[in-house]
Amino acid sequence: MNIFITLDYELFFGDSGTPEKCIIEPTNELIKIANKHNFKCVFFVDSGYLIKLKEYKHQYPQLEQDYNLVRNQIKELSDNGHDIQLHIHPHWEDTEYSENGWVFDLKRYRLDAFSEDEIENIFYKYKSVLEEIIDKKINTYRAGGWCIQPFEKLKTAFLKYGLKIDSTVFYKGKNSTKTQWFNFSTAKNLDHWKFSNDPCIEDEDGSFIEIPIASTKVSPSFFWKFVFIKKIGSKKHKPYGDGNASPTSNQQIKRLLTKPSYSVVSMDGYKAILLNSAHKKYTKENKKNFVIIGHPKAFTEFSLNKFDKFIGDKLMKCDSVKIFSEV
Ligand SMILES: [Zn+2]
Repeated sequence: MNIFITLDYELFFGDSGTPEKCIIEPTNELIKIANKHNFKCVFFVDSGYLIKLKEYKHQYPQLEQDYNLVRNQIKELSDNGHDIQLHIHPHWEDTEYSENGWVFDLKRYRLDAFSEDEIENIFYKYKSVLEEIIDKKINTYRAGGWCIQPFEKLKTAFLKYGLKIDSTVFYKGKNSTKTQWFNFSTAKNLDHWKFSNDPCIEDEDGSFIEIPIASTKVSPSFFWKFVFIKKIGSKKHKPYGDGNASPTSNQQIKRLLTKPSYSVVSMDGYKAILLNSAHKKYTKENKKNFVIIGHPKAFTEFSLNKFDKFIGDKLMKCDSVKIFSEV
């Protein structure tokens, strides 16, 4: 099976936290594991952050430091063969900085809140800022907060800016909060397909490829354990990130505590415990692609240990790790 190790490289959007703790340090820990087993990762960079850092860096020396730190890590990752791809959180458009930190306004969290012209401009800006740093072309997209629908409004930008692959959808994924709405219930249980107007609907003549994030069924009891572990706050379960998620994500957690749901297969925190069973199921189903998602800010000592063992074991067998620029 092809395993894709994909990371959403970003701050928190409630209380942002610092780039050192949310991005730089946990990414470096992951790279140690990647070097040990000799594989490359895919980083979906939230480049709206870079645009804002550039905008404010002349006014605030701290932000100039932050910009250099993040920019240099992205450049180094790319130079070392890791994949840098596009992740858009358009609420950066409405974000301001003050002495107390980033002030997020999540009213326009989804791209759907913008006009088609504005969307095209956002894709142009967010993709250019990254391509300037890495001096390579980007070909893959992952929507911020999984909010890729309705795709019709993004299609022109995809065509215009050479985006060929999307990796946002996950089987039976759903979130119905007002800010962060998505619904992948029409997507089939496949490991990739072509699409044209809707990433959930296969179209053999489509110009784009969907390589969905791996998905796994999770019971409410799993999320209760998750909450319990958070409450106890032991060292090995303490996240690297020093910020806090937005209330949107907390609303979603409440839903997960009451009904069975489908989750992305993730290397974040306690969720890393599901890697093995999900992989086993994908192998049984003869799938060719297994896309794991992670967020450096949500890594813990526990999750990195679990992931290290998991990937070491799979690479000893017949799996290989792939990146999207080589698809
Ligand atoms: Zn994100």
